[in-house]
Amino acid sequence: MCKFNSLFILFIGINSLLNATDALAYSICVKNYYKIPISLDEAGNIFLRINKILEQQNHENCHNTYFDKNIEPVSFYDYELPSVIASKEDFEKFTGKSCIHIVNKILWCGDGMVFPTGGALGCAPISGNGIVVVRTYTGLSSTITSKVEPVTWLHEFGHTKGLLHNTIDFLDVMTPGISPSTTNLNEHECMILSGNQSTGAAIPDLSLEKNSLPAGPGCETAIGIVSVEEFVKTPILGSYPVTTASLYSGDLDKVEKLIIDPEYSEFRPNITALLGVIGNKGTVRLLAGIIDSPFVKKPSDADIDTLLAAEIAIGTIVYRNNLPETDVQVLLRAANPAFWYSKLISFNGTGNQISQDNVLDNQGLLPAERGQSDRMSLDDQDIDNIVNMLTSQALKGYAISGSRSVKKELNAFKSASNNAAIPDEIRNNYNNKIDEIIELHKKSNLDGALSTYY
Ligand SMILES: [Zn+2]
Repeated sequence: MCKFNSLFILFIGINSLLNATDALAYSICVKNYYKIPISLDEAGNIFLRINKILEQQNHENCHNTYFDKNIEPVSFYDYELPSVIASKEDFEKFTGKSCIHIVNKILWCGDGMVFPTGGALGCAPISGNGIVVVRTYTGLSSTITSKVEPVTWLHEFGHTKGLLHNTIDFLDVMTPGISPSTTNLNEHECMILSGNQSTGAAIPDLSLEKNSLPAGPGCETAIGIVSVEEFVKTPILGSYPVTTASLYSGDLDKVEKLIIDPEYSEFRPNITALLGVIGNKGTVRLLAGIIDSPFVKKPSDADIDTLLAAEIAIGTIVYRNNLPETDVQVLLRAANPAFWYSKLISFNGTGNQISQDNVLDNQGLLPAERGQSDRMSLDDQDIDNIVNMLTSQALKGYAISGSRSVKKELNAFKSASNNAAIPDEIRNNYNNKIDEIIELHKKSNLDGALSTYY
């Protein structure tokens, strides 16, 4: 029995080859964004639950592989790494590091793709370093989120060891739509995890990330489709189920009412994503109203996710319905950091108070009770993070809209933002995204806006 503790960290991603009879212990560090705490005990417990998953397999290689509770205390980061992964540039800051990083939000996990709702539970390069995971997910209860954590960590770790998605077994750890019950591993996967990797192993039908099949829990398995109310209540953990969503096109009026129904407030991100697939010109106006509404209380995670989903939905609807340039103008506004800064700073009580005259078509969205206790609870870093998310996503929405002015407008934005009074780091980050966004635009023009959906 030999152990590779901290030394092994150096070799993650280098496809180490080890003797099958030796047990292999991985020792992985954990580093969290300081506002998303995780204790050493919690992290250790996740590794123990990963070991249980490995033990329950019928393949020897999995029994010979386990994760040490970390040997170093969990460490945290503040400004040195992003807490929101909204672009390739954000993600690449993690790829030189072998730790599992707990981040706030994952909105980028591969070029040419958008998250129409919620973002990802985790992201990692295939063969390489750089695991990012989240601990909360809008629409998922904290119990389920905590139950899925070992699966998420093992899934992302599997990617770093070279494993692709398994689209054959929807209960496999490597399925694109993971859940607490996706705990199977096949022989090939156990072999790779154990380090006994024979390159070029003939394992059929393992698809690339981009070809992964929809696996929203509960949505795809029913013979008939569930009611639209049930559909929007179901968390989407895997690829967005575009085909299923499009079956609800006859329910457009109903779905547009659901989005202003307070009973469905926590499901607004999913409702909004569904509107992207089935909505029309009138829907764009509704969603633009959400984006233009001021914040009248501290935005919840669901509020932010609704705005993120609305930005993608508008681009998709404009593309699908071949709508004119005027319908996509809201995304150009929303792609400007100043648009969100002014709203968030007004809300935060540090700038001018909100004028109700600015409320455009605010049909009860982002509810209007003024929570005094919430007013000051966003600090500068929270605001920067929200602005980064919303501007990046607006650019993506704009890019997939099919607008003929995309390249011209994006370059104009680049020079305009150079003159705007916004923090240097935000501006640089923003400008560096432009070329990536133009690639997304090309893909949408070639294969359609929905082809860019995860
Ligand atoms: Zn994956």
